Amino acid sequence: MKRFALAGNPNSGKTTLFNSLTGSSAYVGNWPGVTVEKKEGTYKKLSEEISIIDLPGIYSLSPYTSEEVVARNYIIDEKPDCIINIVDATNLERNLYLTTQIMEIDVPMVIALNMMDVVRKSGDHIEIEKLEKIIGLRVIEISALKEENLNNLMIAAFEESKKERKGITVLEDSNLVHLIHDCEIAFHAIKVNNPLFHAVKLVELDELEIKNHPELINIVNDFKSTFKDDVFGSDFEAIVADSRYKYITKYFSPYFIKNKAFNEKEENRSSKIDKVLTNKWVGIPIFLLILFLIFHLTFSSNLFYLGGLFKNVSPSFEGTMFEGLFYTSSGINSPGIILYNLIDSLTSAFSSLASGWLSSSPEWVGGLIVDGVLGGLSAVLSFVPQILCLFFFFSILEDSGYMARIAFILDKLFRKFGLSGRAFMPMIMGFGCSVPAMINTRTLADDNERIATIRVIPFFSCGAKLPILTAISGGIVLRFGIGNAEVITYSMYLLGMVTAVLSVLLMKKTTMRGEVPPFIMELPTYHLPQPRALLIHLWDKLKNFIKKAFTIILASTIVIWFISHFSFDWKYLTDSEMESSILAGIGMLIEPLFTPLGFGSQLESFGWVFVVAAFTGLVAKENVVATIGTLAASIVSGFAGSDTMEGVDSVVEMINATGITLPALLSFIAFNMLTIPCFASVATAKAELPKGKFATTLLFWISVSYIVSSMIYLIGTWWWTSFIFALSILVLILSISLYNRSRDRKKGLKK
Ligand code: GDP
Ligand code: MG
Repeated sequence: MKRFALAGNPNSGKTTLFNSLTGSSAYVGNWPGVTVEKKEGTYKKLSEEISIIDLPGIYSLSPYTSEEVVARNYIIDEKPDCIINIVDATNLERNLYLTTQIMEIDVPMVIALNMMDVVRKSGDHIEIEKLEKIIGLRVIEISALKEENLNNLMIAAFEESKKERKGITVLEDSNLVHLIHDCEIAFHAIKVNNPLFHAVKLVELDELEIKNHPELINIVNDFKSTFKDDVFGSDFEAIVADSRYKYITKYFSPYFIKNKAFNEKEENRSSKIDKVLTNKWVGIPIFLLILFLIFHLTFSSNLFYLGGLFKNVSPSFEGTMFEGLFYTSSGINSPGIILYNLIDSLTSAFSSLASGWLSSSPEWVGGLIVDGVLGGLSAVLSFVPQILCLFFFFSILEDSGYMARIAFILDKLFRKFGLSGRAFMPMIMGFGCSVPAMINTRTLADDNERIATIRVIPFFSCGAKLPILTAISGGIVLRFGIGNAEVITYSMYLLGMVTAVLSVLLMKKTTMRGEVPPFIMELPTYHLPQPRALLIHLWDKLKNFIKKAFTIILASTIVIWFISHFSFDWKYLTDSEMESSILAGIGMLIEPLFTPLGFGSQLESFGWVFVVAAFTGLVAKENVVATIGTLAASIVSGFAGSDTMEGVDSVVEMINATGITLPALLSFIAFNMLTIPCFASVATAKAELPKGKFATTLLFWISVSYIVSSMIYLIGTWWWTSFIFALSILVLILSISLYNRSRDRKKGLKK
């Protein structure tokens, strides 16, 4: 099978093209550095199948970043049949810089001029035929997003892949051209592939090249010593780069005719928006406000009735069905709640049907299916609409280019404390899922920064933790009648972020002292979020969630049901005898550990449910709510005639059964959010962390969650304990800064 590789600058649309060509749904984000590994897919619309490889985005083929090394090695060593060089047509000159380097390799290539939809809209014009002639490569205009002209691109690439191509260089005009050709001959003589490419890299004194061919370095050094610095200058790498840009402006740029008026207007507009959104003072408050609006739109049952903004959310079906669905007495439902209500009516109809069918079967069969499986699954699935709703809004923030600005403001704010904005990108990805977020930390050059970032990524509450937040806060509102579900959820998200920032600060001041690596970020252009891209994103989330529900979560609910309905001597227990089950036994054994957190031994019967639920979350975080759902369904009623409960209701039942208090519930949310993440994330962390850092990372997660949750519970229950905590924190800060100062002084003396 032929292999075509996609290479281009970050954010030029490679992954979008990859997804369009192969029908995959790899992560697309409107900021540089999202794809860090190569990915493979298949294109099937030609006479033969073609394997497509998405390479990480790069600005050059120098070996400075891991992305550059991955892309360079792939192109050089694995010799794809054709390179599709994606060029962002709205940023032609800068993108062609990489093109001039790939051109030097002996590999067939075509140029895909992407984002043509934007170019056309702005009234710019590119004279393709003339550009093709001067570059000497096929140039095909496409829009990866709108899927325009993709087949022609593939046909062109296919034709090129049948031909041999010798590398050519734009450095013929440079005064180093003779040296380059001398080196090329030398590489040729020792039978190295791609002699031209290696020759240029050698002249640039590229690290990898020097390492691989130390025998040839003398050609460059002799040249340097023969001619004085004032003839050629000494920094050959800079001379080469400069020649490339000069060539591009002289020969390529004339074919790119810009609509000046439009471009200036656009630039003005975007810089005006940036002045506000990235402003030192209002940037963060605006972000917090936008975030709150999103939570309001997702979780509120009184969307427009602002007077009732802080009233209770009660997604109930009282009155007519229509009334419960779209509005309640307190106001109009948000889109999230409307969808929630829809699913709710579906699942309860389904489970009453199921209990009807099963009424003549043995009791344990009905219990397993209705309480165990349906109870657990519907508790989790009832939150799908809200998860999707939240992700819909997050995707808009990302795709529009706003999230990249957040990283930019946070960089300015936290640089003083030793945090760089680059690290916030993977953290923000953590809102979706920790696994890709942790992999994305490979873009961080500094080891310490990577470790710190991987450790705090789980604090950015992911989609799987959302049911915990929503179910418990919904339960709190219904049972205690105070607060507002959206406010609680929002606060918990903030708690996660604040904990992340404080923990990085603490690490930076203690175990990970060091310079903050520089962060130069290119702000992506604002663009309207594309419905297609959003839909793909949501569909992907939904698919993943459903798949998980019917595999891991389903299996867990069955296991949980069995070990909660059988005793250690393997006797079947009815619902009311559950307290002597295997699960209860294990739960009660570890329960005392959680007493300082509020959901330990102080709870009445069934108190072990919370501890057990938290533990099942280590497999997948959705399990926490699924377990509560399964067990609550058993506790509340025999299966016959009962219908299953949604996540919120089962939490209310658990609160009633155990007598757990409000601070303890908040502490329970915080614990699940901050403690060891799900199994998949733990495995990723282990793979991504440097040797010897994994055990301390596990310890870090356990201690942070334990400390923060116990603080919430203790202060919430006995307010005066806040003084004890304040004092201990003060002492901690003081001793750290005193220690650091004496350390610095000692260092100073040594110097
Ligand atoms: P990568 O970093 O090169 O993989 O780029 P992505 O595929 O992640 O795309 C970066 C951004 O550009 C995303 O917001 C895409 O939606 C957007 N994008 C990609 N291709 C096109 C296109 O043809 N037209 C427009 N208007 N936007 C595009
Ligand atoms: Mg990408």
